[in-house]
Amino acid sequence: MRKSQSGPGPVTGSVGSGRVSESARSGRAMVWTGVGQPLQLQRWRLPRPGPGEALVAIDLAAVCGSDRHSVSGRRPAPAPSVLGHEQIGHVVAADPEARNLDGRQLQPGDRVVWSICLACGDCDRCRRGLSQKCRSLLKYGHEPWRDGAGLGGGFASHILLRAGTAVASVPAALPDAVAVAASCATATAAACVEAARARLDGRPDGWAAVPVVVCGAGLLGLTVTAMLADAGAEVSVAEPDLARRALARQFGAVRALPPAELGPSDASEAVFELSGDAQQVSRCLRLVEVGGVVVLAGTVWPSPAVPVKAEDLVRRLVSLVGVHNYRPERLTDGLAYLAGPGRSRPWADLVAPPLPLERLDRCLARPAPGDPPRVSLAP
Ligand SMILES: [Zn+2]
Ligand SMILES: [Zn+2]
Repeated sequence: MRKSQSGPGPVTGSVGSGRVSESARSGRAMVWTGVGQPLQLQRWRLPRPGPGEALVAIDLAAVCGSDRHSVSGRRPAPAPSVLGHEQIGHVVAADPEARNLDGRQLQPGDRVVWSICLACGDCDRCRRGLSQKCRSLLKYGHEPWRDGAGLGGGFASHILLRAGTAVASVPAALPDAVAVAASCATATAAACVEAARARLDGRPDGWAAVPVVVCGAGLLGLTVTAMLADAGAEVSVAEPDLARRALARQFGAVRALPPAELGPSDASEAVFELSGDAQQVSRCLRLVEVGGVVVLAGTVWPSPAVPVKAEDLVRRLVSLVGVHNYRPERLTDGLAYLAGPGRSRPWADLVAPPLPLERLDRCLARPAPGDPPRVSLAP
């Protein structure tokens, strides 16, 4: 892991020099201290960016399901830490070596999103194109604070982006509430679509009229649905929640139904399991057509084992692919989709109006049925 120049804990040093007010030089972060423990508001002296680093002020942060799983203990996570990995912000200070994915120098005021993953670029996995599984991967919003990842999560007024972070400039036409999920839900959705596309390659018309099943209409499922529908696929969405099924239709599903109603007539070439429900995983394995692909991306916490009929998968030439994290290109793909084919979809409606940073505890509470897929904070 690349350590911050500024070291662990509440940081020392300051941004720039001269007459800067105390509030301009300090940052706030909501520190998660462990399962069942209260969140703590900490103030930090803002670090001066080291070589290749950029200090970013966070304008809007969203709570992803995996933040809730960390806080509830369902998903192992180090503490204390600053959680949060879906956010958008603007550059406050940047080292001249800090660049965006287009190679342009980052400048104060640039609106940016950044990859959840920071890879070394040099290990065997990075060299074979699996930087999302780098041997010394740093994940923003998931690192323990003691390892120098102090301002490393989205639930804070600022974040320090390390050298080598994949930073994407956000098109001016994209509102914060649309771009806020780019670094997790949108880029992961792009990775899911790409994983399926790579295995269905050879279709002359791409996704045109391809029947697809998406299980789960959280933000990830809705985004995959919209991306595929906008590419011409015929998407059926399986989702238990009535309000989410209505959303799925708004995001391009030709059909939205309770999972138990999926039957043999729903067999599809591409099946995406994005709910994390073990029963749904089993269903997806049965639903895939001969020569089709099942993309599993929803199961990101320890879950019950699922029986697999190996002979059935063999005879039906099924590809089974897991998607977790993503390579920097998928962040670019996700933003290009939001600003391009996906721009007419009502993305901003999926994010509740922001609360102050100090209300993070409320945002991390279990959502009620009918709540928008994302609650948000404006630090
Ligand atoms: Zn996430
Ligand atoms: Zn690596």
